[in-house]
Amino acid sequence: MKAVVTGVAGFIGSHLAERLLAEGHEVVGVDAFVDYYPRAIKEDNLRTARGQARFRFVEGALQDLPLDGLLEGAGVVFHLAAQAGVRASWGRDFAAYTSHNVLATQRLLEAALTAGVGRVVYASSSSVYGDVRALPLREDSPCRPVSPYGVTKLAAEHLVHLYGRNHGLPVVSLRYFTAYGPRQRPDMAFHRFLKAARDGAALRIFGDGEQTRDFTYVADVVEATRAAADSGRPGCVYNVGGGERVSVNDVVRRIRQITGRPVEVVREEAQKGDMRDTFADTTAAQRDLGFRSTVGLDDGLALEWEWVRGLA
Ligand code: NAD
Repeated sequence: MKAVVTGVAGFIGSHLAERLLAEGHEVVGVDAFVDYYPRAIKEDNLRTARGQARFRFVEGALQDLPLDGLLEGAGVVFHLAAQAGVRASWGRDFAAYTSHNVLATQRLLEAALTAGVGRVVYASSSSVYGDVRALPLREDSPCRPVSPYGVTKLAAEHLVHLYGRNHGLPVVSLRYFTAYGPRQRPDMAFHRFLKAARDGAALRIFGDGEQTRDFTYVADVVEATRAAADSGRPGCVYNVGGGERVSVNDVVRRIRQITGRPVEVVREEAQKGDMRDTFADTTAAQRDLGFRSTVGLDDGLALEWEWVRGLA
């Protein structure tokens, strides 16, 4: 099978590409190296995939690239390219979010339709929900994002499903809940926390630390994404969450234990756009995708710690 992975140089996209290559598929990876974090990190992410003959890399933005040839003959397009990050999505930078997350998705969907691709799997986000009181979050819970980033991820999710409903494009969306593990983006909490622990620096926490998250180990995210191509029901959306609801303060306690370092904490003001709590109901993903979270938080944190210790 030929698979296209957008955002292939990113945290999750690079793991997904390696997984597809290991299965023997041909992978065309696309990435624009947007400057949200350094290109050198993304080049490192790509190193293993680039060493394989069945991998072809195309550099460029989905808004500009000639997409027809790129998608021709693709059994599946995994659409992971996005301008990530909740906190940076306010103010002038919102233009980048609308361009990379909404306009790029619409252009990709048009091209997927023309090329007749077998399936589009879209990487959506738990941030489409916003502050919903009733937990766990189900796919039919109200979606009222509390960040501009969440608004763009939800807008793109709507576009994906419009192309499914109106044009018969077989589409599936996955709402990832806070992915972590090796290659995690440098702006994300565990990466920052573990690096601070390594360097003996104070660890910065936004708000009182009692906000909770459902953290999902990257291999489990990849597994669900891969399964969505085969057994996701067209037109459906699935939560992908690790299954443990843990507060940020609890994460810090675990980090002290895993790293054996004292780790001093500095509290900063709560950030606009951060959700208070996330916790996924994954019944639908279990049923249709055979999804099971296989890596618990302590094991996953230990794996990310090993990776962070090896970083420059
Ligand atoms: P990432 O920033 O590491 O990877 C995204 C990649 O997409 C980057 O390498 C970037 O250069 C590329 N990109 C951005 N806009 C592009 C464009 N217009 N054309 C081509 N390439 C472009 O982010 P990630 O954490 O790996 O996230 C991957 C996907 O999963 C994103 O869609 C994100 O919204 C979604 N997601 C991630 C998480 C998480 O916890 N990491 C949670 C929910 C949803």
